[in-house]
Amino acid sequence: MRALLVQPEFPISYWGIQYGLPIIGTKVSLPPLGLISLAALLPASWQLRLVDLNAGPLTKADLDWAEVVLTGGMHIQSDSTQQVIAQAQARRRLTVVGGPGPTTAADQYAGADVLFLGEAEGRIEELLQAIREWSGKPLVLEAGDEHPDLSLAPVPRFDLLKLADYASVSVQYSRGCPFLCEFCDIIEIFGRKPRVKSAAQVLSELAELHRLGWRSSVFFVDDNFIGHKRAVKKLLPQMAEWQAQHGHPFELYTEASVNLAGDFGLMDGMVAAGFSQVFVGIESPSQAALEECHKGQNLHIDLNESIDRMARRGLEVMGGFIVGFDSDPDDIFEQQSRFITHNAIPLAMIGFLNALPGTALWRRLDGEGRLRPGWTGDQLERPNFIPLMNERQLIEGYRRLVEEVYSPAAYYARCRAFLERAPARFSRRKFQFSELPIAVRALFHMSVRSPWRREFWRLMATMLKRNPQSLGWVMAHAIQGEHLIRYTREDLLPRLDAALAALPNDIGERRTAARRQPPAAVRPRRPGPRSPHPV
Ligand code: SF4
Repeated sequence: MRALLVQPEFPISYWGIQYGLPIIGTKVSLPPLGLISLAALLPASWQLRLVDLNAGPLTKADLDWAEVVLTGGMHIQSDSTQQVIAQAQARRRLTVVGGPGPTTAADQYAGADVLFLGEAEGRIEELLQAIREWSGKPLVLEAGDEHPDLSLAPVPRFDLLKLADYASVSVQYSRGCPFLCEFCDIIEIFGRKPRVKSAAQVLSELAELHRLGWRSSVFFVDDNFIGHKRAVKKLLPQMAEWQAQHGHPFELYTEASVNLAGDFGLMDGMVAAGFSQVFVGIESPSQAALEECHKGQNLHIDLNESIDRMARRGLEVMGGFIVGFDSDPDDIFEQQSRFITHNAIPLAMIGFLNALPGTALWRRLDGEGRLRPGWTGDQLERPNFIPLMNERQLIEGYRRLVEEVYSPAAYYARCRAFLERAPARFSRRKFQFSELPIAVRALFHMSVRSPWRREFWRLMATMLKRNPQSLGWVMAHAIQGEHLIRYTREDLLPRLDAALAALPNDIGERRTAARRQPPAAVRPRRPGPRSPHPV
């Protein structure tokens, strides 16, 4: 069997680093881990070809070669996924669609020949049989009630990737999270009992990347890397030993809940293993908002101290922030801005609260009659429900917030403030000689061509004075900043202006109407999109 694996396109976003990638000569921020994990489960006798639409086009020759086309991904990729399905079917190729988007919003992918919902481990025979015996009628292979044991997961087929296209690569250690955040679909898709791979599996994946020549950053895509603390604590020393034996080839980053800051041993173990950044769902400095969304792990804890503690031990916090909670006061935007600045968080992912179908939030808002149809999955556009705050005020406040946070002066000031806190050497990865051309190109761009080169030089001065070992960090953050600043100015702000211009004049009345809705009712779970970074 000849199988074509197609990664649909992501629209430009904060996460994609699209404006920064050309500076370092790569095309995509992360590879399609889901597809190469599925590829590893397919029969060894199958011929496989991978096309990542974020790196290059899908050609007629690819489709003519294939007997079956496997595609899918997150809800934010749904438009591109639909195009892949249409192109494949136009050439009479069998289409199989899966991933978190279709799993939670199957009705939106009804055009696929075979919908493969849920996780693939332990169910591959079911899929193979469906492909072999497909009758010509659309078929849905439902996810089972049980989540698979991750010991069944083989090493993903990293060899199918053109590694030079990617700024970073991804691996996965665990699925599931024990917490109860109201807006999170991870606990709906993967459950609340974290499942982990063995240390041997993780080391095999790192070894395979090393064998293929990868020597850069590796993203552990786990939604909460420390969800199973006991297991992680056993894994980390083995990872540290592996990194030391191989000359620290990988700089690691991941996502984790904020209770990480309460465990010094765990933080030190992560740093020793090579982690230097962790994405944490801070969500809001407002206690009322955290209570509203059941983010219990962020309550009764000093968030400022937690972030500072992680930074001083060598873990830079990338923060997730949300505006648009029912309890948000009018000055929430200024509160958020002060919090991000005070805590020296260079990368702050700020979005509107949105209800992902299938979540507790979706069920509550559905019960209150506040959901809007036709959401694209983009958390940076207007909310997909009627907010309690006047919507014009909400979008204008959000606009002010992102414009302020991603002004060049504010972004670089946070970078400088972080460097002042970070330990003298917070990255163990050694500079590779092969990286020299990229470093020279990036240095030339940031120091000569960039419109905010003055800010870059100020950051370099801080680095030389306070943390001279962190040139790599400075370059990476300058490139990241190039994207964050340009994306905000050239894409996000114009979109928000368009959203404001399109708001109906009676938007104030809608707020009153929303407040008059009856209390939440329990509704059946509905499918929907998956948030890329929900921790
Ligand atoms: S948002 Fe993060 S911490 Fe909360 S339940 Fe989801 S994965 Fe867990």
